[in-house]
Amino acid sequence: MTGVEFATLPTQLFDSRAAGDGATRWARLADDVVVWAPADHGVSRVTSRGPASLLDSAPALVTQVGAAFQLAHPEVEVLVDHGRYLVVDAAAVPTPTAQDRVCWRVQPLPQDTVIVDRPATDAGARDPGTAHLLAQLSRPSYEGCLGQLTSPRTRHSFSDGFRDAAAAAGAMLTSFGYTVTQVPVRVGAGRSRNVIAARPGAGAGPRGVIVATAHLDSVNHEDGETGPAPGADDNASGAAGVVELGRVLATRAWHHDLRLILFGGEEQGLFGSSGHVAGLTAAQRRRILAVINMDMVARRNTPEPGVLVEGAPVSRTLVDDLVAAASTWTGLTVSTSLSPFASDHVAFIDAGIPAALTIEDNDTANRDVHSARDVVSTLDPALAMEILRMNLAVLAGYLSRRTP
Ligand SMILES: [Zn+2]
Repeated sequence: MTGVEFATLPTQLFDSRAAGDGATRWARLADDVVVWAPADHGVSRVTSRGPASLLDSAPALVTQVGAAFQLAHPEVEVLVDHGRYLVVDAAAVPTPTAQDRVCWRVQPLPQDTVIVDRPATDAGARDPGTAHLLAQLSRPSYEGCLGQLTSPRTRHSFSDGFRDAAAAAGAMLTSFGYTVTQVPVRVGAGRSRNVIAARPGAGAGPRGVIVATAHLDSVNHEDGETGPAPGADDNASGAAGVVELGRVLATRAWHHDLRLILFGGEEQGLFGSSGHVAGLTAAQRRRILAVINMDMVARRNTPEPGVLVEGAPVSRTLVDDLVAAASTWTGLTVSTSLSPFASDHVAFIDAGIPAALTIEDNDTANRDVHSARDVVSTLDPALAMEILRMNLAVLAGYLSRRTP
């Protein structure tokens, strides 16, 4: 008997000791555990119930932007659907093209590990200083910026609309007191730009850098480069979030330096962030203590408002701090993953810099991304404000903390 036997079971019925027989592998995605083993070994001793299925090959993990993989390959049976993360039979997945690789990735299902977690934490004490800072976040101010950034017909990386949005965001950040530069970036054969706003810390001695980022560009995959691309959720929601965080953070002196970056060229394959990180010296990279990236933070896809915090082993502490802040300062349900993919946090993580993505929960349910339908009227700004509260609490903590 060849092939691989595969089954899923609820987390509470899973005993990792039963799987510790040297042949059975497991992986957990939130409330589901998947187990697999060579067919001649079987998984029944672990599951002790329910039928197992037989795969032609080993299970694979697909990580997708929106529902990109499922829309492109409806013929591939999804064994476990956890939105951004899917488990499929590796033998069923076509080889991705260069364009596919921007939108989805396939890898062997990591074994004996947690891929998506639903961490339980207790709310900590609310300190008055942070409470006062968070109270300055303004939904009208956020929505005003959102409206301005979505007014061009498109913010495609190479478009006049992108340049107009970059100029508008830059002008807002300048008015808050930041030193703003528009840095050209190469995007394949084209050119785009990053908007970088800097504010030095007031701390004496060596200072670190705390960074908040979002991509400013939008794209329309249905109608092509010239099609309307309002990109309200993806990613005016995150870009306006960076501007709003910048407005509030400029009201205080901090120990560390603050840098806010709006990237171009993200939708073509993370060109803005990769170019930015490649241009940093080793010493400049070492100064960066944390990067919080926002990409799609305003579409409510779940009954309860939720957020996914996605980092990597290098950013485990930052992920934990975001989870703690969410429980202390927000009503958000939080999922976490240490398997980063397809947004600007990846460029920093690949360079060993602690970075995390914050993204609306179950973003796969948003089938309007990368189309003319991604408009402001589909958003829930209240969800974005909750995610901004979480991020602002963590940024303020990092900005004021003295390095040991
Ligand atoms: Zn995006």
